[in-house]
Amino acid sequence: MSQSAMVVFMYGDLTMTKYIFITGGVVSSLGKGIIGASLGKLLRARGFSVAIQKFDPYINVDPGTMSPFQHGEVFVTDDGAETDLDLGHYERFIDSNFSQLSSVTSGSVYQTVIQKERRGDYLGGTVQVIPHITNEIKSRIVKAQKQFKPDFQIIEIGGTIGDIEGLPFIEAIRQFKTEAGIGNAINIHCTLLPYLQTSGELKTKPSQHSVSVLRSYGLQPELLVCRTSKAIPKTEKEKLALFCSVAKEAVIECRDMKSIYEVPLALEEQNFANVVLKLLNTEERKANLSAWTSLVDKINHPKSVIKIAIAGKYTKLSDAYISVVESIKHAGYANQVKTEIKWINSEECVDNEKCKELMQDVDGVIVPGGFGIRGIEGKLNVIKYVRENNVPFLGICLGMQCAVIEYARNVAGIKGANSTEFDENAINPVIDLMLEQKNVKGYGATMRLGAYECNLKKGSKAHAVYGSTKISERHRHRYEVNTDYIDELKKAGLVFSGMSPDGMLSEIIELPQLDWFVACQFHPEFKSRPERPHPLFRGLIDTVVKQKGLNS
Ligand code: GLN
Repeated sequence: MSQSAMVVFMYGDLTMTKYIFITGGVVSSLGKGIIGASLGKLLRARGFSVAIQKFDPYINVDPGTMSPFQHGEVFVTDDGAETDLDLGHYERFIDSNFSQLSSVTSGSVYQTVIQKERRGDYLGGTVQVIPHITNEIKSRIVKAQKQFKPDFQIIEIGGTIGDIEGLPFIEAIRQFKTEAGIGNAINIHCTLLPYLQTSGELKTKPSQHSVSVLRSYGLQPELLVCRTSKAIPKTEKEKLALFCSVAKEAVIECRDMKSIYEVPLALEEQNFANVVLKLLNTEERKANLSAWTSLVDKINHPKSVIKIAIAGKYTKLSDAYISVVESIKHAGYANQVKTEIKWINSEECVDNEKCKELMQDVDGVIVPGGFGIRGIEGKLNVIKYVRENNVPFLGICLGMQCAVIEYARNVAGIKGANSTEFDENAINPVIDLMLEQKNVKGYGATMRLGAYECNLKKGSKAHAVYGSTKISERHRHRYEVNTDYIDELKKAGLVFSGMSPDGMLSEIIELPQLDWFVACQFHPEFKSRPERPHPLFRGLIDTVVKQKGLNS
């Protein structure tokens, strides 16, 4: 080890915060995010403040440039970070807004270190994974601590233990944990117990092996959270405790649940948060989970079922629209209805007859965000259908742009109306690149991102559901309604019910004569919470419930 590798990292005064690192073993897609978010919920329910960070070992600087087919949705924070979808779970469960500092990738860490090297900050030194990369990772933990000053900071490390690319993160948390001192930082290791049908047994060996890999990197977990499809027998819990060197009470079962929102309650039953508090030398507190318990009760006892169609391009992977799906569910819970999703590949709707057929059994329709020309004509057909048949409709981002194009072509009679995203030479570019975007080069973090204010028109449907004339919503787009066409569209009956404070950007459109035809340029799905559904999703689902005469 070179001499510089021995430099001890300086924390400053970080003693007020306790650190909880979450790692995963055996398989990927274990639901570490849900487990971390559930722990955050249980701590919040005890009155503690919680901040979170997600460490992703891939080299992309952020997930903003990744295909939703590969990586699922890109979640956007108030301050405009394009992050992993797990951050959405954390915000929804903990009911807090996180920031740029909550998302750390290998790419962003290396980018900072390499920029420093080019600037000459390490002049004379050899720049190495240890200590330079690991120090940068630790400094990200410190920066988030300084911003949020939380009682607890939960840090989830993406990927599976043993992955080569995750090693610098594991080494950094090993150092951080040691330097933070006993009782100030713990490691929760999440694993899977496979069930062998033939012998009727849950197997603990893969978990034991993954803990021994973790140990080989110098990390001893304090808690094990085991994903399982069956109850874990006491003997198997004892075996796991013994072989993995964790207390018996610190082997926590995490069974497959019907709804992810049941997970915090199932973990609470096993005293999960109190075991965490004990390991972190913090006095136990009683949790107030009454609102969450009644939410879960509503989830489990729906009075009716409604069907909402999502007509988009990434319908093969539901994770691509995960916040949209969760927001639909939240608004359903408030009405005590179960919301079934019908995935419609918009390309199939290019054929009018097929589109009509697909629309027959749906109660409401969402056309979500997206990029590129594929499936656009199908989306326009879907929107024409819902407009002509008074089917409750919510358009989001690209969905709003399509709603404007459809109205321009079919109602306002603006021939060849289109977006320059789909046809650079459109004769009537009703949707065009935003002025600020015209000189932008490159794709990373260059869109209009994050929270912006919007003024609502008094007496509009949007105003009614928000109950306010000033709102703030999160954005992720490059194109906008072309102001040159606003008067013509208004004359044809389209109402612009939400505008940016300078009056230049159209944020919400609606058709007042229909029960619910509202579309927005921002992404309302990023702000919906299970206990506080988003007003625009409530508008959609409440209208469906009313149209069908349910729950009255
Ligand atoms: N492609 C459109 C734009 O960039 C819509 C983006 C989106 O739906 N997030 O403006």
